[in-house]
Amino acid sequence: MELFRIFIHDSSFSFILEIILRCIVMYLMIIIFLRFSGKRGVRQLSIFEIAIILCLGSIAGDPMFTEDLPLIQALTVFVSILVLYRCTTYLTMKSKKIESLLEGKPMYIVEDGMLVLKGIKNEKYSYDEFFSEMRQQQVEHLGQIKIALLETEGCLSLILFHDSEVKWGLPIFPNEYKQTIDYYPERFYSCMFCGNTRLIKKINETCERCQKQHWVLSINTKRSK
Ligand SMILES: [Zn+2]
Repeated sequence: MELFRIFIHDSSFSFILEIILRCIVMYLMIIIFLRFSGKRGVRQLSIFEIAIILCLGSIAGDPMFTEDLPLIQALTVFVSILVLYRCTTYLTMKSKKIESLLEGKPMYIVEDGMLVLKGIKNEKYSYDEFFSEMRQQQVEHLGQIKIALLETEGCLSLILFHDSEVKWGLPIFPNEYKQTIDYYPERFYSCMFCGNTRLIKKINETCERCQKQHWVLSINTKRSK
């Protein structure tokens, strides 16, 4: 019967018991590995560490139910990777060069209320996803941000202007982040691509920072209201 083949096939009762034993051993091995790798949690893993964890997933999983895979082989892989991992973390601690090679460098996203052009031009990232992160930290427009730094773990560190220093800036909530069609001579506009903020002479003026021609009315709301 098809269902029989799917669920049971040729597994014997003794092999089922063996799987339970294998799982217990591999489970303990994973815990021991994570304990000795010196990591406290997974939230702050670097790209490099995620790669290792992915490799370990297969090394840990397969021996749990593969009959002809002796646990000693899995154990050897675990110990080798642990030693390699410890060597690499030691080297990244000792050398800045190796560290930035393996983990990347923190990257400036916003400086002084404007998006940093280098990142936009290389299209290394889409700034939309940072807008969402900034919104979650109650930022309404770029004029509130002194520095936004993308950490190597992928989180965004923000340094905000004090309320008295908040400037006119590019709104980042969807309702306000829309190209303005009408021109008002006395009002501040922000470039939708780089956050450049100033008075403009016509609605399709070219931005001197990024050469784009899309402007949106700036806002200068403070954080504490
Ligand atoms: Zn611009």
